[in-house]
Amino acid sequence: MADSDSILYERPAENVARIVLNRAQARNAQDTALLYALNDAFDRAAGDDEVKVVILASTGPHFSAGHDLRETDAVANMDAHRPVGTWGGTHARAAEARYAREMEIYLGFCERWRALSKPTIAQVQGKCIAGGLMLVWPCDLVVASEDAEFLDNTVTMGAVGVEYFVHPWEMGARRAKEHLFTAEPIGAREALSLGMVNRVVPREELAEATLALASRIAQMPMLALKLTKEAVNNAQDAQGRVQSVRMAFALHQLTHSHNEQVFGLPVDPTVMNPDFVRPANKG
Ligand code: ZN
Repeated sequence: MADSDSILYERPAENVARIVLNRAQARNAQDTALLYALNDAFDRAAGDDEVKVVILASTGPHFSAGHDLRETDAVANMDAHRPVGTWGGTHARAAEARYAREMEIYLGFCERWRALSKPTIAQVQGKCIAGGLMLVWPCDLVVASEDAEFLDNTVTMGAVGVEYFVHPWEMGARRAKEHLFTAEPIGAREALSLGMVNRVVPREELAEATLALASRIAQMPMLALKLTKEAVNNAQDAQGRVQSVRMAFALHQLTHSHNEQVFGLPVDPTVMNPDFVRPANKG
């Protein structure tokens, strides 16, 4: 479980809010409580008329290691929170339950955060792995430190990318395929050349550079910022982004179901552990 300080909410400059993942001891891995706390923080920033720009940062050497695979009772932990979506069914069985959970806290949250009307900036250092990408990609801008590394290694685990499948828009279709097929990380400089991040700065200048960018944007009229963001987001959506993401989400669910049937697990363990033997009590 994330504790109550797992998300910090700061006001580091006029008209700027900074939301900070504060689970460095767990490399900012995301469990259910942390994701809902993060969602609450985004809502707080959205609803505060004094806030015009939102930074998403994290403490420690790494931005986020992705989903917290050590979380136990993940389904029961959903009960502590009011759902933001209307899909329901987290207490259903098998694929129905997984679809519901991932629709709510992964795809649902990502689309919700992308739709936040105010400009958002991800501030990324160190490793940003799999589910970590789903915190960065919904943001409008990305400032990365020179040591930042981005990786979706889900094909290694027999899955179709992370649940928020915007890779073709983030890095182009051909690079997205290579990245997913090989599960090799993308460094900050290459991410910059791909247009996946906006700026790369030395690690020690990351917070300052991100805040300076946020403060510059915060000088602009709020309505023009909101409507400009809306215009660019809709340009992506007019290219079929929404339908493509929903399609990939369904394919992702298919891989989970396949892996459950074959291995008794939602992921394929055989790349990491070629000697894997399916437990006799599974299925
Ligand atoms: Zn999944």
